[in-house]
Amino acid sequence: MFKYRDKEIADRIVTKLKEMDLDITLMHVCGGHQDTFIRYGIDSLILDLGVDIRQGPGCPVCVTPPEEIEEVMLLAQKGKTITVFGDMMRVPGEKFTLFDMQSRGADVRMVYSIDDAVVIARDNPGHEVVFMAIGFETTAPSTAAVLSGKEGLPSNFSILCTHRLVPPALKGIVEMGELKLDGLIEPGHVSTIIGSTPYEFLSTEYGVPQVITGFEPLDLMMAVYQLALQVNRGEGKLINGYGRAVRSHGNLKAIKLMETVFEVCDVSWRGFGVIPASGSRIRKKYEMHDARVRFEDDLLELRGREFTEPKGCRCGEVLRGLIHSHECPLFGKVCTPQNPVGPCMVTSEGSCNIMLKYGRYG
Ligand code: SF4
Repeated sequence: MFKYRDKEIADRIVTKLKEMDLDITLMHVCGGHQDTFIRYGIDSLILDLGVDIRQGPGCPVCVTPPEEIEEVMLLAQKGKTITVFGDMMRVPGEKFTLFDMQSRGADVRMVYSIDDAVVIARDNPGHEVVFMAIGFETTAPSTAAVLSGKEGLPSNFSILCTHRLVPPALKGIVEMGELKLDGLIEPGHVSTIIGSTPYEFLSTEYGVPQVITGFEPLDLMMAVYQLALQVNRGEGKLINGYGRAVRSHGNLKAIKLMETVFEVCDVSWRGFGVIPASGSRIRKKYEMHDARVRFEDDLLELRGREFTEPKGCRCGEVLRGLIHSHECPLFGKVCTPQNPVGPCMVTSEGSCNIMLKYGRYG
C-alpha cells in the first residue's frame, strides 16, 4: 500500500493512534476518499484503532433526490432529447431508469461533458436538447462557463440544473445531530475550487475538527491522525492538509463564473429533505437555457407530488452516515452493481458500489 518512506510514516501514525485509545466517528464526503479508504483497507485498519469512518453526502449522483430523477424522466417521456453522464443512466427512478426509457424509444444519450451535449443540440436543431447538469462545486464551473460563454448557445439547448453545494450540506449534518460526529475530512476536489475558507464556520461556530486532504493513502492516514489529535486535545480547528492543491480563497475564476451564472437556493438532498442554501439555480439572465423555466408546463404534473425512495433502500441513511453500506439488508444480495436498487450502488463514487467493488461485505 505504501512506499518505503510512506510506510514508515504510516506505521508511526498507527502507533500514535493506538496510544490515544480512541473511540471516535469521522465522516468524509468524497467518493475518491471512499475509494482510497476501502481499496487500501484503511477503514478496517483504523476501525481496529477505534476510528469509525463514514461516507456522508459526498456522491453527487447518490444525493440527487427522486424528484429530480423524475424531472428528467418526465422530460424524456415528453419527447426531449436528454443528455446525461453515464452514471445517471442506471439510477433507478420510481418506475424506470433512463436506460429503460431509452429502450422504450426515448431519446436519451450518454455524454462525457456538457460540450458534447451542446454539439448534439447544434447537430439536431429540430430537437429540444436538455443536459442534466449534476455535481458539486467541482463540475458547476464547467456548466457556468458554457452558459456564460461568448460564442452563444443553440436556442434548442437547455440545462436541468441539479448542482449542489457541499458546505451547507455539512452544516445540515452537524445541525441534525443524528450522528456522534467527531470530525470531518473535507473533499479534495471541491476544496480546490472553493478553497478552505467556506468550511471555517463549521469549526468556529460548531467546534468541529476538520482536515482538508488529498487522495493518497498517506493523505488520509495523516488526516485521521490530525483529527484524532484534535479530538484528544478538545480542539475544533480547520487544517488544510492539501496545501499542494488548495488555497484559502480557492479558484477565483471558477468562483466568479459560478456567481455570475447561478444563485443560491434551497434544494432537497436524497435522505435529507430540503437543506437551506445548498443548491445552485440558473439566474434569470440565462433562463432561456433553464429547462425548468423553458419546460415549466411539461413539469407541472410533478409539482406538489410526494416522491418515493426505492423499496427497502437505505441510501438515505448511508448518505447521512448513520449506517455502513453492508448494514443495508439488500447490500450484495438484492442490490448489486449489475442490478442496483439505490443510487449508492450505481456510481463509482457511491459507498455501496465501492464496498462491493473491493469485495467488502462488512
Ligand atoms: Fe441503497 Fe443498495 Fe446501498 Fe442498500 S445496498 S443502501 S439499496 S444502494
